[in-house]
Amino acid sequence: MVAEGDRTVCGRPALAVVGQAALLSLGHLPDPLGAGCSALTRSALLFLVKPSRFNYARPTSVEEVIGLLAAHGDDAKVLAGGQSLMPLMNARLARPELVVDINAVAGLGDIEVNGALRIGSVVRQRTIERSADAARIAPIIAAGLRYVGHVGIRSRGTVGGSIAHADPAAELPAIALALDARMAVSGPGGQRTVAAEDFFEGLFATAVSADELLTAVEVPRPPAAARSGFVEIARRHGDFALAGVAVSFEYVDGAVRSARIACSGVADRPLLATAAQDFLQQEDANDPRTFAEAGRRAAAQFDPPSDIHAPGSYRKQVIAVLVERALKAAIEGSDGADEARR
Ligand SMILES: Cc1cc2nc3c(=O)[nH]c(=O)nc-3n(C[C@H](O)[C@H](O)[C@H](O)COP(=O)(O)OP(=O)(O)OC[C@H]3O[C@@H](n4cnc5c(N)ncnc54)[C@H](O)[C@@H]3O)c2cc1C
Repeated sequence: MVAEGDRTVCGRPALAVVGQAALLSLGHLPDPLGAGCSALTRSALLFLVKPSRFNYARPTSVEEVIGLLAAHGDDAKVLAGGQSLMPLMNARLARPELVVDINAVAGLGDIEVNGALRIGSVVRQRTIERSADAARIAPIIAAGLRYVGHVGIRSRGTVGGSIAHADPAAELPAIALALDARMAVSGPGGQRTVAAEDFFEGLFATAVSADELLTAVEVPRPPAAARSGFVEIARRHGDFALAGVAVSFEYVDGAVRSARIACSGVADRPLLATAAQDFLQQEDANDPRTFAEAGRRAAAQFDPPSDIHAPGSYRKQVIAVLVERALKAAIEGSDGADEARR
């Protein structure tokens, strides 16, 4: 159902505007408010305004959502937890004509374990952080989520919203990549699953098209000898990270096997440190130099961007250190938080 109401006139595709706002927040675009604008004024200008008028729909089935998205294209935006979309709308950097609230859609809030861990897209970040099933199958999810904003934000923000938003500094996309997760996507053509490696296509861009919905994130059940760890560096706790590292691997007889090392903050999307992964496959993990060398190889692979928060050269250095720390944290069975505080 689409509620009655005035429609805003907006010629710009909503996705492009969201992307532009996000680029600005990351320092990738010149700041239109100017360098002399104080932090308080900036916050007021960006966050204390009201959104343009929009129509609102609260469908109860995936089919209904797809129908609305197919009919409205770029003029519609999905609303999940609203923790990224609403600030952009309040600042009028996103002006969708139709907001499709997916919180009443049957099944999207479910957590299931059928071999894999299946997390419905509107499962709150806080819910999965505290889920016993997730702790058993993928403890790295809770380890990483502790760094996401603050409890209030995680209590509204959803797993699917974070993955679909695809902020290159976000924790969950990197964790999904390290876990080799698959994204379940529904659209007019039916359902499909997309591997994390193919899902994140660029800055705030994913394999989900305007008429599709991310319905769930599927995490494969790990082998018995699985280890994982997550660490990041941010200027303050709760800020978006300057860089982060999620690792997942099998640890058998002192050897690291099938390592996946996902790095955030190194490019326009989270990327696997493939050179470090290959190196670990052949080396003795008991040698303390091994993880340091893996970190160096990971850093050598990337050419991270510079922005208002940090130069790329700093992020490169940080990645080397974080890879080493994340691998150690995974072996030691700590969640990486102590390592990150050092
Ligand atoms: C102060 C503050 C600090 C934050 N700090 C962090 C942080 O440190 N790390 C971090 O990762 N995040 C952080 N966030 C963002 C937070 O994690 C958001 O919850 C998340 O980015 C988006 O999730 P959401 O459910 O709120 O999505 P929404 O804001 O509702 O949607 C975000 C985008 O994704 C699209 N979308 C949402 N769900 C779907 C779906 N199922 N299918 C297709 N498209 C969909 C929407 O259309 C929109 O474009 C912060 C937010 C705030 C306000």
